[in-house]
Amino acid sequence: CGIIGYVGPRPSQDILISGLARLEYRGYDSAGIAVIDGEGGLGTRKRAGKLQILRDDLAAHPLADGTTGIGHTRWATHGGPTDANAHPHLADDDKLAVIHNGIIENFSELKSELVAEGHTFRSETDTEVAAVLLGREYRASGDLVEAFRATVSRLEGAFTLLALHRDQPGLVVGARRNSPLVIGLGDGENFLGSDVAAFVEHTRHALAIGQDEIVAITPQEVTVTDFSGAAVDVEPFEVVWDA
Ligand code: GLU
Repeated sequence: CGIIGYVGPRPSQDILISGLARLEYRGYDSAGIAVIDGEGGLGTRKRAGKLQILRDDLAAHPLADGTTGIGHTRWATHGGPTDANAHPHLADDDKLAVIHNGIIENFSELKSELVAEGHTFRSETDTEVAAVLLGREYRASGDLVEAFRATVSRLEGAFTLLALHRDQPGLVVGARRNSPLVIGLGDGENFLGSDVAAFVEHTRHALAIGQDEIVAITPQEVTVTDFSGAAVDVEPFEVVWDA
């Protein structure tokens, strides 16, 4: 029930985990992260249970750190609270990762379509169809933003969706429909969050993303479009926060 994304110069794991800790108040049953490491690999770790279980796992078996990452806390709707159903969900030979809050209403139709094409699934979630669809689209276009646009245009329901691909380090894409997503603007770094709590310890400068919009963040740039790729106006605001 919480989402954070980071791109910038700093190692992302601590930023992701502390962002998820700030989102814990919303309730959740599992947590996970994906990080593009300095060698261009994609590392993921996800565990059912409290964030502390994920923290302990990472402490015992460290994941190579990197400066592009996404983090998720899950409130299960499709598939029980297990490690396999926890997010991120991977596709394109484990080169891309997707996290999602919400419900993809048309997931079973999409799943049948993908299964018929020979794609396989490793979880019982509605979310994994978005990951597998994104993998298929990425193979077609070789461009994460374009593939993401094609993917979210097929989805019905409610979603805050974030994705990254290890072949495009320094880029996190996000989209929202009937579910919240905000941008945090840093200095040489940018954030995405399901609410401002995700990044408020790093920046108070934020941008609101409207319904049915897509955002791409790099360390230097934030680009917001609608699902067809047309640029849209974004509304800056200052986060008021009494810590
Ligand atoms: N529907 C997704 C799942 O069950 C996401 C749930 C959530 O909002 O955390 O995995």
